[in-house]
Amino acid sequence: MGSLVVENAVLGDRKVAIHCAGGVIADIRDDGADPAVAQGGSTDRLDGRGCLVAPGLINAHTHAAMTVFRGRADDLPLMEWLQRHIWPYEEVMTEDEVYAGARLGILEMVRNGTTFFNDMYWSSRGTVRAAVEMGIRACIGEVFIDGAADAIRPRRLEIEGLLDELEGCSSRVSLSVDPHAVYTVSEDSLRWAGELAADRGLILHIHLAETEAEGRRCSAEHGCTPVVYLDRLGLLSERTVAAHTVWLSDDDVALLGERRVVCVHNPVSNMKLAVGAVYPYRKLASAGAVCAIGTDGAASNNCLDLFRDMKIAALLQKFDANDPAELPAAQTLAMGTTNPARAFGLPGPEIEIGRAADFILIDGQRPELSPSHSLTSDLVYSASGDVVDSVVCDGRVIMRHREIAGEQEILADARQAARALFARL
Ligand SMILES: [Zn+2]
Repeated sequence: MGSLVVENAVLGDRKVAIHCAGGVIADIRDDGADPAVAQGGSTDRLDGRGCLVAPGLINAHTHAAMTVFRGRADDLPLMEWLQRHIWPYEEVMTEDEVYAGARLGILEMVRNGTTFFNDMYWSSRGTVRAAVEMGIRACIGEVFIDGAADAIRPRRLEIEGLLDELEGCSSRVSLSVDPHAVYTVSEDSLRWAGELAADRGLILHIHLAETEAEGRRCSAEHGCTPVVYLDRLGLLSERTVAAHTVWLSDDDVALLGERRVVCVHNPVSNMKLAVGAVYPYRKLASAGAVCAIGTDGAASNNCLDLFRDMKIAALLQKFDANDPAELPAAQTLAMGTTNPARAFGLPGPEIEIGRAADFILIDGQRPELSPSHSLTSDLVYSASGDVVDSVVCDGRVIMRHREIAGEQEILADARQAARALFARL
């Protein structure tokens, strides 16, 4: 692996040169001091003139390949939307179509400053392939729901085989076990998933407490809330990533905190699908849960720009609490950067010597970031992904001055995949 020097960029109040080698920040020197260059291998140079250095964003819950569904079916209730417009197509989606959709999703995320995403989807080999090729970090899991009784065992074997096959495929990609939700996966399969994740030391990624109907059904079938139910089955731990977590009792919140679960807020998806409750940020954070943020898929957002989700998250909390002090900018930015990093085993996102070289350059000349009293405030309340000039992940430049390798081909392939998929049914 060659080395990289990012020159003339502003980090905090210093103009610096950041030297990256072996995927790690090896040195940060004041601009003008000649940074040490590693012996052997080539050195790439990225001009950061006029740019501010910020941590790469962590999208803690998405379905990258769902970009192919973008704009197909909006303004519908969750179950009607899933049952009529999403699931029938997902059933016939090929791995190559997942790959094409995931490449488009990753392209969009990188353009918007994301250096890590946590993904749940079908034919996840396609998403893994896309992530490895495009140089972004990711945690990727194969979603499963329980269909016909005789299909359950073959599907479990398939997932175990997939984990065997993909484990260690890239130092940037980790794997997870992804039961879809408590209302689509049987008790027996949830137990199997929990044991599989624990045995292999993997993240368990699930949709949880997204709708009131989910809670009612769980209560009728199991006599408790979805959170308590998962805990009884042994599925809640600091390696659990629960998406949504909006319909929660105070006891649920306490349990999620006690287990140090990563609770991912998806404010745009929740508001668009009108799930009827608001992520209880203050309660979850006080209880000790790890508060993170995600876009959810492009079918329910409809874009993968985490800057927009951060702003909307902060506004939604303030509006809901009738308190402008709720979810301040620094805490919002932490939800999209530092908070979930440890749970995902990420060696960052602080921009310090010895940390992973995952960071973004923000174009400091953008009018919406001027006169720049506070970068944190600007990033949360003013920025969109358009302010990102360049993205460095694992010590490599994956977007250089707004350009990403193969962009036109990725766009054309995704359009073609979407056309083929929707022509099939
Ligand atoms: Zn989701």
